[in-house]
Amino acid sequence: MDDRKLTPAEEKRKTKFKALSAELEQQGYQKTDLCFSVTKANVLAVAVTFPILIAGILLFFWKNGGSNSFSLSGWRFLLFLITFLAGIAVHELIHGITWSIFAKKGFKAIDFGFMAKYLTPYCTCGEPLPFWSYATGILMPTLILGVGVYLVGLFAESYAWALWGLLNIFAGGGDLAVLWRIRKRRKSLLLDHPYQIGCVVFDKN
Ligand SMILES: [Zn+2]
Repeated sequence: MDDRKLTPAEEKRKTKFKALSAELEQQGYQKTDLCFSVTKANVLAVAVTFPILIAGILLFFWKNGGSNSFSLSGWRFLLFLITFLAGIAVHELIHGITWSIFAKKGFKAIDFGFMAKYLTPYCTCGEPLPFWSYATGILMPTLILGVGVYLVGLFAESYAWALWGLLNIFAGGGDLAVLWRIRKRRKSLLLDHPYQIGCVVFDKN
């Protein structure tokens, strides 16, 4: 699926992940892999978020009109860029904090990594979680940084913050694709993949 070279930390997580999977299978669970390749995740991300972005832009102009001039130049642009880049780190942190609330080991179950080949940071949870716990952790960054900030921009009539929010919904496209993939797994145990996009699910018949 993915031929990138794993970091030592990822190798370690891979070993743990295999042991945990084997343990669950021994308990009578059936394992199904629901991971994406990075390329497929990106294609799906664009497909899922594109209609949301269009709707968000139309809603903004419908509510606030198009008469205010949009200026994002000089230091404003720099601020936009810096907060957006910081937002990427905060995005991963929100995944971690949300999952840690549900995980038995708390924040110790959470790990962060970086796929250098794809310039993609990620967060992963080493404990299997029930559907709603896993799904909440997947969705929370896009909900807060994307939808939340967009709504602030919408009601404050700020083009810049509305755009910032929409770009974060776009950045959360991979997460939305994962959510779409697991939507019928309400009764499964979901274990986040330690170094790929997506998760494996465990079902007991
Ligand atoms: Zn994410």
